[in-house]
Amino acid sequence: MLRRDLSFLDEKHICPHCEQEMSCCEAPPVHVGDGLGWGSEAMFICLNDSCSVFLRGWESIERQYGHHASYRYMELPRSKEGNYMMVGNKDAFKASVIDREELQRQNHRFQKEKDALSRLDSCVAEKNLEPVLCLILDEAASIAGRRKAISLLAELNDLSCIDPIRNHSFRDNALQMECNRILDELLKRNYKKECPACGELVKQQAKKCMYCSETF
Ligand SMILES: [Zn+2]
Ligand SMILES: [Zn+2]
Repeated sequence: MLRRDLSFLDEKHICPHCEQEMSCCEAPPVHVGDGLGWGSEAMFICLNDSCSVFLRGWESIERQYGHHASYRYMELPRSKEGNYMMVGNKDAFKASVIDREELQRQNHRFQKEKDALSRLDSCVAEKNLEPVLCLILDEAASIAGRRKAISLLAELNDLSCIDPIRNHSFRDNALQMECNRILDELLKRNYKKECPACGELVKQQAKKCMYCSETF
Protein backbone atom coordinates (compact mmCIF):
# COMPACT_ATOMS: atom_id res chain seq x y z
CA MET A 1 0.00 0.00 0.00
CA LEU A 2 1.53 3.30 -1.06
CA ARG A 3 0.51 6.56 0.52
CA ARG A 4 0.88 10.09 -0.70
CA ASP A 5 1.67 11.94 2.50
CA LEU A 6 3.26 10.04 5.34
CA SER A 7 4.47 13.04 7.31
CA PHE A 8 2.10 12.04 10.13
CA LEU A 9 4.44 9.13 10.87
CA ASP A 10 6.77 11.49 12.72
CA GLU A 11 4.06 13.22 14.75
CA LYS A 12 3.45 12.68 18.43
CA HIS A 13 0.14 13.74 19.95
CA ILE A 14 -0.51 13.83 23.68
CA CYS A 15 -4.07 13.74 24.96
CA PRO A 16 -4.70 16.96 26.95
CA HIS A 17 -7.21 15.11 29.14
CA CYS A 18 -5.06 12.21 30.35
CA GLU A 19 -1.52 13.19 29.23
CA GLN A 20 -1.12 9.83 27.48
CA GLU A 21 0.30 9.47 23.99
CA MET A 22 -2.50 9.14 21.46
CA SER A 23 -2.67 6.25 18.99
CA CYS A 24 -2.20 6.80 15.27
CA CYS A 25 -5.17 5.13 13.55
CA GLU A 26 -6.43 4.60 10.03
CA ALA A 27 -9.12 7.19 9.35
CA PRO A 28 -12.52 5.66 8.66
CA PRO A 29 -13.35 6.20 4.96
CA VAL A 30 -16.28 8.49 5.67
CA HIS A 31 -16.84 11.18 8.27
CA VAL A 32 -19.50 9.71 10.53
CA GLY A 33 -21.09 13.09 11.15
CA ASP A 34 -21.50 14.80 7.80
CA GLY A 35 -20.61 12.24 5.15
CA LEU A 36 -17.41 14.04 4.13
CA GLY A 37 -13.95 12.51 4.32
CA TRP A 38 -11.62 13.62 7.08
CA GLY A 39 -9.14 14.87 4.50
CA SER A 40 -6.55 12.68 6.13
CA GLU A 41 -5.57 9.05 5.92
CA ALA A 42 -4.71 8.90 9.58
CA MET A 43 -5.95 10.37 12.83
CA PHE A 44 -4.65 10.43 16.36
CA ILE A 45 -7.08 9.02 18.91
CA CYS A 46 -6.72 8.71 22.66
CA LEU A 47 -7.47 5.01 23.20
CA ASN A 48 -6.71 5.15 26.91
CA ASP A 49 -9.62 3.44 28.66
CA SER A 50 -8.92 5.48 31.80
CA CYS A 51 -9.07 8.81 29.95
CA SER A 52 -11.58 11.15 31.60
CA VAL A 53 -13.23 11.91 28.22
CA PHE A 54 -13.97 8.25 27.70
CA LEU A 55 -14.99 7.56 31.33
CA ARG A 56 -17.37 10.51 31.55
CA GLY A 57 -18.79 10.07 28.04
CA TRP A 58 -21.04 7.11 28.85
CA GLU A 59 -23.09 8.99 31.36
CA SER A 60 -23.37 12.19 29.36
CA ILE A 61 -24.48 10.42 26.15
CA GLU A 62 -26.92 8.29 28.10
CA ARG A 63 -28.40 11.44 29.59
CA GLN A 64 -28.41 13.47 26.34
CA TYR A 65 -29.29 10.87 23.74
CA GLY A 66 -30.45 7.89 25.74
CA HIS A 67 -28.12 5.38 24.18
CA HIS A 68 -25.08 3.42 25.22
CA ALA A 69 -21.96 5.11 23.82
CA SER A 70 -19.05 7.28 24.85
CA TYR A 71 -16.47 9.63 23.34
CA ARG A 72 -12.84 9.35 22.34
CA TYR A 73 -10.67 12.45 22.09
CA MET A 74 -9.18 12.85 18.59
CA GLU A 75 -6.80 15.15 16.69
CA LEU A 76 -5.99 15.23 12.99
CA PRO A 77 -2.36 15.22 11.78
CA ARG A 78 -0.70 18.66 11.81
CA SER A 79 -3.42 19.95 14.10
CA LYS A 80 -3.91 20.39 17.82
CA GLU A 81 -7.59 21.05 17.41
CA GLY A 82 -9.60 18.61 19.48
CA ASN A 83 -12.50 16.54 18.17
CA TYR A 84 -14.69 14.07 20.00
CA MET A 85 -15.78 10.91 18.30
CA MET A 86 -18.62 8.77 19.48
CA VAL A 87 -17.77 5.11 20.08
CA GLY A 88 -20.15 2.29 20.91
CA ASN A 89 -17.66 0.21 22.88
CA LYS A 90 -14.15 0.36 24.31
CA ASP A 91 -12.59 -1.59 21.43
CA ALA A 92 -13.71 0.76 18.65
CA PHE A 93 -10.66 1.94 16.62
CA LYS A 94 -8.27 -0.34 18.49
CA ALA A 95 -8.06 -2.63 15.45
CA SER A 96 -7.19 0.28 13.18
CA VAL A 97 -4.06 1.41 15.02
CA ILE A 98 -1.35 1.87 12.39
CA ASP A 99 1.91 -0.04 12.69
CA ARG A 100 4.05 3.06 12.22
CA GLU A 101 7.38 1.24 12.08
CA GLU A 102 6.14 -1.08 9.37
CA LEU A 103 4.69 1.82 7.40
CA GLN A 104 7.94 3.74 7.78
CA ARG A 105 9.85 0.75 6.41
CA GLN A 106 7.47 0.50 3.44
CA ASN A 107 7.75 4.22 2.85
CA HIS A 108 11.54 4.09 2.97
CA ARG A 109 11.56 1.29 0.42
CA PHE A 110 9.07 3.14 -1.77
CA GLN A 111 11.19 6.32 -1.73
CA LYS A 112 14.27 4.31 -2.67
CA GLU A 113 12.42 2.72 -5.59
CA LYS A 114 11.13 6.10 -6.78
CA ASP A 115 14.61 7.56 -6.53
CA ALA A 116 16.18 4.65 -8.45
CA LEU A 117 13.52 4.89 -11.18
CA SER A 118 14.23 8.59 -11.68
CA ARG A 119 17.94 7.89 -12.08
CA LEU A 120 17.52 5.10 -14.66
CA ASP A 121 17.54 7.48 -17.61
CA SER A 122 20.95 8.89 -16.81
CA CYS A 123 22.63 5.83 -15.34
CA VAL A 124 24.13 4.56 -18.61
CA ALA A 125 25.75 7.91 -19.38
CA GLU A 126 27.02 8.06 -15.80
CA LYS A 127 28.09 4.41 -15.86
CA ASN A 128 26.17 4.01 -12.63
CA LEU A 129 25.03 0.48 -11.90
CA GLU A 130 23.58 1.37 -8.49
CA PRO A 131 19.97 2.37 -9.38
CA VAL A 132 19.75 -0.57 -11.80
CA LEU A 133 20.79 -3.09 -9.14
CA CYS A 134 18.60 -1.41 -6.54
CA LEU A 135 15.51 -2.08 -8.69
CA ILE A 136 16.48 -5.53 -9.91
CA LEU A 137 17.10 -6.73 -6.35
CA ASP A 138 13.99 -5.12 -4.85
CA GLU A 139 11.29 -7.79 -4.83
CA ALA A 140 8.65 -5.23 -3.87
CA ALA A 141 9.43 -2.85 -6.75
CA SER A 142 7.17 -2.71 -9.80
CA ILE A 143 7.83 -5.36 -12.45
CA ALA A 144 7.86 -2.70 -15.19
CA GLY A 145 10.62 -0.76 -13.42
CA ARG A 146 12.64 -3.89 -12.79
CA ARG A 147 12.30 -4.94 -16.45
CA LYS A 148 13.53 -1.54 -17.54
CA ALA A 149 16.50 -1.85 -15.17
CA ILE A 150 17.32 -5.32 -16.50
CA SER A 151 17.26 -4.00 -20.06
CA LEU A 152 20.03 -1.55 -19.14
CA LEU A 153 22.44 -4.21 -17.87
CA ALA A 154 23.81 -4.94 -21.32
CA GLU A 155 24.51 -1.27 -22.09
CA LEU A 156 26.11 -0.71 -18.70
CA ASN A 157 28.40 -3.65 -19.40
CA ASP A 158 29.57 -3.75 -15.78
CA LEU A 159 30.57 -7.23 -14.68
CA SER A 160 30.22 -6.32 -11.01
CA CYS A 161 26.47 -6.82 -11.45
CA ILE A 162 26.99 -10.57 -11.79
CA ASP A 163 27.56 -11.56 -8.16
CA PRO A 164 24.62 -9.67 -6.60
CA ILE A 165 22.24 -10.89 -9.29
CA ARG A 166 23.39 -14.52 -9.22
CA ASN A 167 23.09 -14.51 -5.43
CA HIS A 168 19.60 -13.03 -5.40
CA SER A 169 16.56 -15.26 -5.18
CA PHE A 170 13.92 -13.95 -7.54
CA ARG A 171 10.28 -14.63 -6.83
CA ASP A 172 9.50 -13.96 -10.48
CA ASN A 173 10.91 -16.72 -12.63
CA ALA A 174 10.70 -14.76 -15.88
CA LEU A 175 12.78 -11.90 -14.43
CA GLN A 176 15.43 -14.33 -13.25
CA MET A 177 15.63 -15.99 -16.66
CA GLU A 178 15.90 -12.62 -18.36
CA CYS A 179 18.72 -11.63 -16.00
CA ASN A 180 20.58 -14.89 -16.56
CA ARG A 181 20.29 -14.51 -20.32
CA ILE A 182 21.80 -11.02 -20.18
CA LEU A 183 24.55 -12.06 -17.75
CA ASP A 184 25.57 -14.88 -20.11
CA GLU A 185 25.68 -12.38 -22.95
CA LEU A 186 27.79 -9.96 -20.87
CA LEU A 187 30.26 -12.70 -20.03
CA LYS A 188 30.59 -13.71 -23.66
CA ARG A 189 31.05 -10.13 -24.79
CA ASN A 190 33.84 -9.67 -22.24
CA TYR A 191 35.50 -13.02 -23.06
CA LYS A 192 34.84 -14.33 -19.56
CA LYS A 193 33.24 -17.35 -17.99
CA GLU A 194 32.31 -18.29 -14.45
CA CYS A 195 34.35 -21.07 -12.90
CA PRO A 196 31.80 -23.82 -12.15
CA ALA A 197 33.73 -24.75 -8.98
CA CYS A 198 34.31 -21.38 -7.27
CA GLY A 199 32.18 -18.96 -9.29
CA GLU A 200 35.05 -16.52 -9.98
CA LEU A 201 35.30 -14.94 -13.42
CA VAL A 202 38.07 -16.37 -15.56
CA LYS A 203 39.06 -15.93 -19.19
CA GLN A 204 36.87 -17.63 -21.74
CA GLN A 205 39.79 -19.64 -23.11
CA ALA A 206 41.23 -20.65 -19.70
CA LYS A 207 41.78 -24.37 -19.17
CA LYS A 208 42.39 -23.97 -15.46
CA CYS A 209 40.83 -21.64 -12.85
CA MET A 210 43.39 -19.14 -11.53
CA TYR A 211 41.52 -18.98 -8.22
CA CYS A 212 40.80 -22.59 -7.30
CA SER A 213 42.85 -24.53 -9.89
CA GLU A 214 39.80 -26.33 -11.20
CA THR A 215 40.49 -27.60 -14.71
CA PHE A 216 37.91 -27.21 -17.43
ZN1 LIG B 1 -6.95 10.80 26.90
ZN1 LIG C 1 37.58 -21.62 -9.67
